[in-house]
Amino acid sequence: MLFNEIVFGPIHSRRLGVSLGINLLPTGNKLCNFNCIYCECGWNTKGDDKKRFNLRNDVKNALEEKLKSLQAEEKYPDSITFSGNGEPTMHPEFAEIVDDTIALRNKYAPLAKISVLSNATMIAKANVIAALLKIDNAILKLDSGINETAILIDKPQFGYSIDKIIEYMQAFKNRMILQTMFLRGTYEGKYIDNTTETEINAWIDAVQKISPREIMIYTIDRETPASDLQKINSDDLEKIANRARKLGYKVQVAK
Ligand code: SF4
Repeated sequence: MLFNEIVFGPIHSRRLGVSLGINLLPTGNKLCNFNCIYCECGWNTKGDDKKRFNLRNDVKNALEEKLKSLQAEEKYPDSITFSGNGEPTMHPEFAEIVDDTIALRNKYAPLAKISVLSNATMIAKANVIAALLKIDNAILKLDSGINETAILIDKPQFGYSIDKIIEYMQAFKNRMILQTMFLRGTYEGKYIDNTTETEINAWIDAVQKISPREIMIYTIDRETPASDLQKINSDDLEKIANRARKLGYKVQVAK
């Protein structure tokens, strides 16, 4: 599923309510430094990295036009959400676009939250962290507390270390939302299950190190590029959520 527009929706999001999406990535193509086996945008394709990001001004104009028309209809979104065809924080002007979005939100939909769905790979950059700290919901992915499992699930296109990612997440000091996809299945002959006791223990350790403001856990909802993956049932998701709730964390389960 790829987005053909810079600003799309509003759509109903399992986690964010009525969500107006902003796609900083190419329209009609995916651009991401992960290649998650469950990605709703499908697999990365060769040459994706050469496709251009949407220009800051085009994003600003498209968002202003859409917010004006929603205001005229009195249909305000709950969230203005950076998501789309890949990883939004890879955009070289991500911080400036966040500033534009805050100004437009304040003008046309002051009650809407601004959310970013991110794989957290760019949070080593000071300007990305600063931008994420300005918005309401910095929703950052960590799909396992075990490096090998995270690599199997997310297929990062570069050297990846969850220890480093956890260290950078600690800079948010309880202001980020942690999101984790739980799944099981087989990919390229390897069985993957990030819901085992060992996995959940490692995930809980990571949660305690990061100490997020909130946790969002979810499972597969649509067709995935890897064909042999299974959803986690609601009872098992609730059991995982309860482990974190017992430690005092607020956990939202999207089923
Ligand atoms: S980080 Fe998001 S956009 Fe990138 S491959 Fe994973 S699911 Fe897809």
